[in-house]
Amino acid sequence: MFNLVIFGPPGSGKGTQSEYIIKKYGLVHLSTGDLLRAEMSSGSELGNKIKKLIDRGELVSDELVQQMVKNFVLKNIDSKGFIFDGFPRTTAQAAWLDDMLAEISQCVTLMLALDVDENELRTRILERGKISGRADDQNVDIINNRIAVYHKQTQPVINFYTAQSKFVLVNGIGSLDDVFARICAAMDKAK
Ligand code: ADP
Repeated sequence: MFNLVIFGPPGSGKGTQSEYIIKKYGLVHLSTGDLLRAEMSSGSELGNKIKKLIDRGELVSDELVQQMVKNFVLKNIDSKGFIFDGFPRTTAQAAWLDDMLAEISQCVTLMLALDVDENELRTRILERGKISGRADDQNVDIINNRIAVYHKQTQPVINFYTAQSKFVLVNGIGSLDDVFARICAAMDKAK
């Protein structure tokens, strides 16, 4: 399996680039944001709890997200590998992912971080909000909180993968094709 963690702050292009990667490498896309939004739109009690957190720009609990990830991985165990998009978002999630993959004799192959400056992030998220209708993409206070949460809780995940020599930083500014070419170069090197 090729297990890629695609990493970066909100709005850095993880979801968009994931679509390109799936087409070329045949990996299965595991987006925790998408899984959480699916639960939210089901209108379940759990979905309503999730909505309250997402609408404030806070993270959902590690345990809940991990359970979703495990179910998804086990359902797609015969795939060529996964793109983990939006996960891990805390160092606890990263350590858990290593353990969970070890149970199925797998590991993270590469962690690619998309590098985009903060002004560009805010512009991109607000633009995306106009099209997607995502409430958390349309309010400046929520966006700022998500970026703050990223710095505080998520950025340390970089150190986790640096220690395993799996971290590669990719310039996330430029055309979609340019960014994708940089991603492919890093993935082909890691294969
Ligand atoms: P973005 O990368 O633009 O923030 P996502 O779709 O990845 O969008 O995530 C949307 C929201 O879902 C996050 O702000 C957070 O509240 C929640 N979320 C997604 N993934 C995780 C995770 N791994 N751990 C905790 N919360 C998560």
